[in-house]
Amino acid sequence: MKTGVAYHDVRDLRHVVEDLRDMVAHHCNFVVHTFSETDLTYYTRTMKEICHASKDLGLEVYIDPWAVAGVFGGEALSRFIAENLDDRQILANGKSAPAACMNSPRFRSFMKMWTETAAEAGADVAFWDEPHYYMADWEAGSPEEAWACHCAVCRKLFSEKFGRNMPAGMDADAIRFREETVADFFAELCEHARKCGLKNALCVLPNEDPRRGISSWNALASISSLDIFGTDPYWAIHGLPLEEYVRETTRKARMLCEKHGLELQMWVQAFCIQEGREDEVMRAAEILFEEGARNIAAWSYGGGGWTYVRSENADKVWENIGKVFERLQRSV
Ligand SMILES: [Zn+2]
Repeated sequence: MKTGVAYHDVRDLRHVVEDLRDMVAHHCNFVVHTFSETDLTYYTRTMKEICHASKDLGLEVYIDPWAVAGVFGGEALSRFIAENLDDRQILANGKSAPAACMNSPRFRSFMKMWTETAAEAGADVAFWDEPHYYMADWEAGSPEEAWACHCAVCRKLFSEKFGRNMPAGMDADAIRFREETVADFFAELCEHARKCGLKNALCVLPNEDPRRGISSWNALASISSLDIFGTDPYWAIHGLPLEEYVRETTRKARMLCEKHGLELQMWVQAFCIQEGREDEVMRAAEILFEEGARNIAAWSYGGGGWTYVRSENADKVWENIGKVFERLQRSV
């Protein structure tokens, strides 16, 4: 039984080691270290020390391109998209979006460099988290007029593939093009990660939605160098019924794992939990287990540490994660 937690931001080894010990005390046997562009630019030696300290305590190490280039999930800023204006996604309305284009050769090279650095830091598994196109409805503008990507590279590839210009509206060809782009990007990235000695874990957004990137998880689950696949049905932030949403989403992900011979990894929301709802994190983990997940992770350490993600009673959330992880460990 694998149980783990995501960990971000703390980069002072004295405090990190204290937290890693606390994870072990809360029955975790793996940790997902975020490895943002700030880490990549300024903290590579520190990340190596953090990865080694994690392993010394018996934790398997996943490493996550946290919010890198606006393409992956996370609360961190991107330098790549500030420095490489020609490699950003272009929206249908012509505006440049704060996210890198997955067809940009420069961005693909950058991600390979990220992967090599992550492997050198001592990680075991590359954790590709919530890949997505720029989400206009998360910021401003309707998705119909503000979908990506209309950059020169994408427009050229589109016309070669479909024999016509890229449409202004998101039609069936555009959806297919977007999905094939994401799948091609990850196929190349996963292959490179495998060559670097890393396993590949992919966590897709919990809803299959063409506006956000992919209408069928199957296109990603079928990537040949993928090892682990799953998703993060965060019921509380989406205001969805825990029991039904978590169970149904897990079933769907498990079917794909069985089809493609992948290990199922599912996530428990352990951030932004409202006061009085702390027991729900235990119930969620139990449902994941009942539906066959034997690799369960919580986002994030301590119930979410800082303003944007902190649970109202973060200590109670973290205590409950420890309790349910202990129970699940004992039940197998
Ligand atoms: Zn593009």
